[in-house]
Amino acid sequence: MTLSFEGATEPMGPAGDDAVRPFAVEALDVRGRAIQMGPALDAILARHDYPPPVARLLAEAIVLAVLLGSSLKFNGKFILQTDSDGLVDMLVVDYRTTGGVRAYARFDRDGIDAAEAAGQADAGTLLGRGTLAMTIDQGANMSRYQGVVPLEGGTLEDVAHTYFRQSEQIPTRVRLAVAEMQTRAGGVVRSAWRAGGLVVQFLPDAPERMRRRDLPGGDVPADLRVDDAILDDDAWVEAQSLVGTVQDDELTDPAVPVEHLLYRLFSQRGVRVFRAAPIRDQCSCSRDKVTGVLATFTAEEIAESVEGGAITVTCEFCGKRYRFDPGEFAGSGGRR
Ligand SMILES: [Zn+2]
Repeated sequence: MTLSFEGATEPMGPAGDDAVRPFAVEALDVRGRAIQMGPALDAILARHDYPPPVARLLAEAIVLAVLLGSSLKFNGKFILQTDSDGLVDMLVVDYRTTGGVRAYARFDRDGIDAAEAAGQADAGTLLGRGTLAMTIDQGANMSRYQGVVPLEGGTLEDVAHTYFRQSEQIPTRVRLAVAEMQTRAGGVVRSAWRAGGLVVQFLPDAPERMRRRDLPGGDVPADLRVDDAILDDDAWVEAQSLVGTVQDDELTDPAVPVEHLLYRLFSQRGVRVFRAAPIRDQCSCSRDKVTGVLATFTAEEIAESVEGGAITVTCEFCGKRYRFDPGEFAGSGGRR
């Protein structure tokens, strides 16, 4: 048996679109998650009129946030956010451990058009220089954890690798891919976004395997980096080389379920898959939350927010509009 299902009382089928499939390859001390995203991703992207290069970049960020956030073992939120000088100067993805995802990108439309025309709309150029922050939020009264890595002209895969090397010190490979596919329903052809991704991490039970075997006849140099120390572990070398064979279309093709990909990669070693967790296109905004923000405004800020006799707040994530009577707010929040 080389692909076994864990924790199931009956055979499980493919996870299908928009569900994260955790897996483990015990022979290689590797654990990971894989996903293909379809309708939930397309709904998030279709809500905004993103130019295709921006939609692709945001799709990658969504898959990355889902792959990383779905490892959390408590109720909370995983937030991936970029802040940079690129044509896409901000990407935000919120993943809630209940499976809800929301995301949006802020971008320079004229600049993107020009970059596309010049054939320079690659991820590194779009992101530019700046930072990518990953925040784990366990809710009120709990400490937040944040890891920040520099954006230096690479792809989001590159940034993820830097993050795990510098912040987490866990050997990690990430693959992300995005595709725009034509679908035909009732004779109508439309294009829809799909994406897929895979994260594989080397997590040996034996802690000494996370340290380098000593150098011949000498002590381990004090400045030896942790990543150097485990790069030569045979199991991790093998796992990385297998992940290196993954083609983009294998990650996005609806005819190649993630279980098939995992089987192709790891069946020689035996791979166990665990119960898949569904992902939903779901914003967390509400009238109450917007009211709470407006309640902190000063009288001057409230006055400045009134247009046409009302205060209208539009959610940047889902586009929902909330309309308020300015009289609802005393405008004293700043002084309370
Ligand atoms: Zn919203």
